[in-house]
Amino acid sequence: MTVQKDFRFDAAHQLTHYHGKCESLHGHTYYLSVFVEGEMDRSSGMVIDFLHITNTVQEIILSKLDHKNLNDMFENPSTEIVAEWIFKTLYPPLQSTTYHLASIRLSETPSSHITYSKEDYARYTERN
Ligand SMILES: [Zn+2]
Repeated sequence: MTVQKDFRFDAAHQLTHYHGKCESLHGHTYYLSVFVEGEMDRSSGMVIDFLHITNTVQEIILSKLDHKNLNDMFENPSTEIVAEWIFKTLYPPLQSTTYHLASIRLSETPSSHITYSKEDYARYTERN
């Protein structure tokens, strides 16, 4: 079963390895969806408490990104690079014997989305 929880945050960025509109400083309202996969616990009737996802994302992701200039944290804050960091950061705390982080989706505009999955993370950890 997959549990999805959605968030949004506002941030500024400028792409340092790009020639075009996005090389100038500008802002986005980002939408973030977090997907946790696991077995439903029959006594609680839950895979994971929505509130646990909310608190975790608030404490370790949104507190660092919301209303920030992403260039202060990332050398080249493309949506792909930010999505990879979000997945890496959320993976350890959103893991138990019965559930794990399956993927995240980060949207820079209503029609531009990056999906970063545990398969991408496995390839990333093999390389690094
Ligand atoms: Zn942009």
